[in-house]
Amino acid sequence: MSAVESNLLLAHCTVLDARVVDGADPVPDAAVWVRGDRIAAVGPYAQVAAQAQAAGAVREVDLDGAYLTPGLVNMHTHLSLSLPGTGGDDVKTMGPHDLAYYMADGARRTLHCGVTTVRCVAEKDHADFALRRAIAAGRVQGPRILTAGRALVCTGGHGHESSDTLECDGPVGFRRGVRSQIKAGADLIKVMISGGIAGEHERINTPQLFTDELAAVLETAHAWGRKVTAHAGPAEIIGAAVELGLDCVEHGYQLTPQVVTRMAERGTALVPTLLVTRCKEFFDELGVPEWMQCRSLGAGPRHLESFAMAVDAGVEVLLGSDMPPFWHFEGTNATVRELECMSERIGPARALHAGTRGPVRWLGVEEDRGTVEVGKLADLIAMDEDPLTATSAFRGVRWVMKGGRIARDDRTEAA
Ligand SMILES: [Zn+2]
Repeated sequence: MSAVESNLLLAHCTVLDARVVDGADPVPDAAVWVRGDRIAAVGPYAQVAAQAQAAGAVREVDLDGAYLTPGLVNMHTHLSLSLPGTGGDDVKTMGPHDLAYYMADGARRTLHCGVTTVRCVAEKDHADFALRRAIAAGRVQGPRILTAGRALVCTGGHGHESSDTLECDGPVGFRRGVRSQIKAGADLIKVMISGGIAGEHERINTPQLFTDELAAVLETAHAWGRKVTAHAGPAEIIGAAVELGLDCVEHGYQLTPQVVTRMAERGTALVPTLLVTRCKEFFDELGVPEWMQCRSLGAGPRHLESFAMAVDAGVEVLLGSDMPPFWHFEGTNATVRELECMSERIGPARALHAGTRGPVRWLGVEEDRGTVEVGKLADLIAMDEDPLTATSAFRGVRWVMKGGRIARDDRTEAA
């Protein structure tokens, strides 16, 4: 791995970020001066170049007219995902050492897709904490990780078959579950409050936590300053959780106008993971059994309808793939494909928000990430097409920087 690139002038690019939603214009013929791991200046090329040169020798990186945006944030990631089926069984039977290498490989691929931050929402055996340490120490390439550790489920609840969940029962049990994840290093808490697609013995609308159990999760997590996100499908279960103070809903397969109105009023975000009800190709690759495919694809139309309802009600919607972020899917990676699906409803500018600034706000790291501004971490990506014209521009990400280090540059590799 190269030494820290401490003094770089990213030249000849158009700089844009999600502030366009608030009326800020992209900056053409721009440059970004990166010093250490942060952005030192951004603006018209001549001005920024003069400023950088006055401060000493600076190496110019010609971006050749690319569009430069903040790195993407994937809010629903599992780097140790194992679905029912042969592909998932391979991961499930890995020992801890194999699992660590497997996840490290996924982390590197994820970063190379232009995803510079992930929110992990259930990972096996606390390997995510080791991976996060290895990435932070520079031993492994990967995105910045915020993680929930293991997801909390009731005994026999959604995902209980795998070591990326922790079975808890009763308010005392769930309090202990929250505390144990925070003790291990969790940045947030994930809880499964309804059945889902991947559980053979349950239905999507099976309620899984009693009110006192979910209240215990929320109260404990919030007391420790951690937000809570919930895997949830049906409106009734989501509606009750929103009233109790849930911070984010994953999937939301069966929302109603009443529930999305309350989500908007209370500031509960939605990570729709639209891909999970439209990814037959992915399921086939993994040998996912027929019953699960039927349930997944069958839920698709209602899922899309729920997403549209949430958008129309003004719910904050955020990018999350559920599928491994780097997984090749429908001609691109899962992260970009998910953002394209969201963009069909919300348009490219708001899609950019949903994939950058919206997530960092939810994560509470807006001070450091999410826009191309002086003082922020230099987590940046470049592509040749304009992502404000079409979200598919992200298919063409060809250059990735994380914390001032160039992690991917296709032109250098070609040379
Ligand atoms: Zn998931």
